[in-house]
Amino acid sequence: MPAHPSARKIVTVIGARPQFIKASAVSARLRASPRLREVVVHTGQHFDSNMSDVFFAELGMDPPAYHCAIHGGRHGDMTGRMLAAIEALLLEERPDAVLVYGDTNSTLAGALAAVKLHIPVAHVEAGLRSFNPRMPEEINRTLTDRIAHWLFTPNAGAGAHLLREGAPPGRIEQVGDVMYDVALHHGARVDARGGILGELGRTRGIRAGAYCLATIHRAENTDDPARLAVLLDALMRFSSELPVILPLHPRTRQILAGARRLDALERALVLVEPQAYLAMVQLEKYAALVATDSGGVQKEAFFHRVPCVTFRDETEWVELLDAGWNRLAPPTGAEPVLAALRAALGSTGQAVSPYGDGDAAERIVQRLALDLA
Ligand code: UDP
Repeated sequence: MPAHPSARKIVTVIGARPQFIKASAVSARLRASPRLREVVVHTGQHFDSNMSDVFFAELGMDPPAYHCAIHGGRHGDMTGRMLAAIEALLLEERPDAVLVYGDTNSTLAGALAAVKLHIPVAHVEAGLRSFNPRMPEEINRTLTDRIAHWLFTPNAGAGAHLLREGAPPGRIEQVGDVMYDVALHHGARVDARGGILGELGRTRGIRAGAYCLATIHRAENTDDPARLAVLLDALMRFSSELPVILPLHPRTRQILAGARRLDALERALVLVEPQAYLAMVQLEKYAALVATDSGGVQKEAFFHRVPCVTFRDETEWVELLDAGWNRLAPPTGAEPVLAALRAALGSTGQAVSPYGDGDAAERIVQRLALDLA
């Protein structure tokens, strides 16, 4: 539906892969709303075609109105450059609200630029906490929550964190998880035939239901040689029991290439490029086991009812630990990681549904339309 001329303007600031996926659900709803219109700003944090463009095309999003092409550098440098670029755009666009997602530098820069111009900020995926103050993501998300006007939470625990920190209750709305919206919509479109799974079946003998899907990209693992070595050792040993498919994040690839670990890994595991969303959904849905340090992939494993091992010391998504779908395997030694992979394989969890009904995006758009009327 075309927006009414008096429609309120929302500037969405995104820049990293999981944000394109989350925003696709909300953008579709914004496009359908006559009362709101959206201007998308891409900061450029993720810029490779297979980390960015492919998601816009596949998930039906219009190309961003602005692309700031800001990536690389240290955190302060990157966030500072984003802040300046977004401020200039906001001064030009004069939106009624700014929408940010998750916990990246793009999230914090978008929120900070807006709040300084007295533009209200909506934070999607508010209230998540790892309680690990060293994580850049934890810093970004807590600061964003502190300055956001709307705190859209994915689950009950997130709201409880915010209340404990003194957030005004009227700002918090538990809408559910937008990633669940996307997974429901696209998961139903994917079966085991064709696609990346078909290709790996032909070329590497991979069969649906008989492999482990792994991802490693979080700085605490990639930038710590000891932790990275533990994970590679455990995965290489596990691959003699179950094939391991590893879509390699560009940062992880760069570090492994620098450490001359790629060749050995290539021989033991099934290394593939970062996948587009539907290919990733196919790999998740038909895995026997998911092993990851990704926030999103932990949940998607659960959405497809696949057991998961998380290569971290803690997780924001504790309800999946409680329900038995996920278990933590801090990369302190290959043996305990291997034991966690073996224990998780073939396990299931309780029937829970902590992330709403798949209508999180709709609820976000309704609330924004109401409050901005
Ligand atoms: N993802 C993808 N292709 C890949 C790896 C991940 O489409 O090769 C998707 C995944 O399905 C999930 C999101 O990217 O929806 C998770 O992003 P990432 O792991 O980069 O970040 P995090 O969730 O940890 O913030």
